[in-house]
Amino acid sequence: MTQRPAHTDRVLADSVDFLIIGAGPTGLGAAARLEQRGAEYALVEASDRVGGAAAAVTDARGFSWSVAGASGAQWQAIADRLVDPARLWLRTRVAHVDVARRVAILADGRALAYRWCISSAPLPTALSWAGARDLGGGLRSHRVLAVGAGFRGGAPAGLASALAPWARLIETSQLAPSGHWSVLAELRFPGRDDIDAGRAVEAVLGALAAYDAAPTRPVTTWTREFSPACPEPSDDRDELLRTIDERLRASGFFSRGLLGGWRPEAADLGGAYRQGGEAVDAALAGAAEEAYWAGASPAEAESAA
Ligand SMILES: Cc1cc2nc3c(=O)[nH]c(=O)nc-3n(C[C@H](O)[C@H](O)[C@H](O)COP(=O)(O)OP(=O)(O)OC[C@H]3O[C@@H](n4cnc5c(N)ncnc54)[C@H](O)[C@@H]3O)c2cc1C
Repeated sequence: MTQRPAHTDRVLADSVDFLIIGAGPTGLGAAARLEQRGAEYALVEASDRVGGAAAAVTDARGFSWSVAGASGAQWQAIADRLVDPARLWLRTRVAHVDVARRVAILADGRALAYRWCISSAPLPTALSWAGARDLGGGLRSHRVLAVGAGFRGGAPAGLASALAPWARLIETSQLAPSGHWSVLAELRFPGRDDIDAGRAVEAVLGALAAYDAAPTRPVTTWTREFSPACPEPSDDRDELLRTIDERLRASGFFSRGLLGGWRPEAADLGGAYRQGGEAVDAALAGAAEEAYWAGASPAEAESAA
């Protein structure tokens, strides 16, 4: 007789048709579609809020940085209108999923059985849950460090022409206290490297100064790392993702969303929400998923449909 892993030997606390991991835009899109369909689900979120990466963070000096171009308020409004609060479990982290047995173990030790899982946890985590970490070995991803800086005075004219070392620089002065200005820079790093946030902040400030865009030292700085980010384009990326998707879906597991295997060149907030709904339709009715496969090579998108 084969030995069952200890974590599935617990008495099951509950079971649902759909387990949704993460109440970011992808998870909310899935929950809203399940509400429309009248299906049973649990939407499990590790943090104390919905919206995922779409959030505004305010520091002690009153400067705010709105990562992913959103405050999070719109996602809270969507949750309030479309999601049954009894099915939204905040501050509840999924610690492990036995993908083959379709049982999730929550961080507090409860076990939750499901028929389908739509997960927006990072793809490497999902693969380790499935005992298939090696399948993701050929994927390359980058990390993003968001760097915010706030200054006294008005934003200088040189700001618009300041170009490096960031992948994107956004003026966020509308979120700064009056009489101040601020920026948010997004820096990309190879996935394998550790990020020295202090050096990154100095690089941003140095580049602003070089463009005459930051004549004074900042009154505040802020950083947040997003890691590991989505799989970068490569010759075989889409084929690898299709192989992974087939493997996970055979156990009713859909790894979706920003970190769940989505192509960075296609990722945006609206697409994430649509992707969640389409994953539900794929599970229940075998419908094609356009948002998840957007940006894939035509052959991969077609064979996945
Ligand atoms: C730096 C940056 C800038 C961006 N800028 C823009 C932009 O300007 N415009 C735009 O449209 N998009 C932007 N995006 C993309 C946008 O943020 C994503 O498309 C969107 O957030 C994806 O939503 P998601 O639900 O898939 O993932 P996320 O927003 O990452 O949400 C995932 C959620 O799952 C939860 N979770 C993860 N693991 C577990 C677990 N084990 N148990 C329970 N909960 C878990 C997390 O806590 C999180 O709340 C940006 C992204 C980044 C990183």
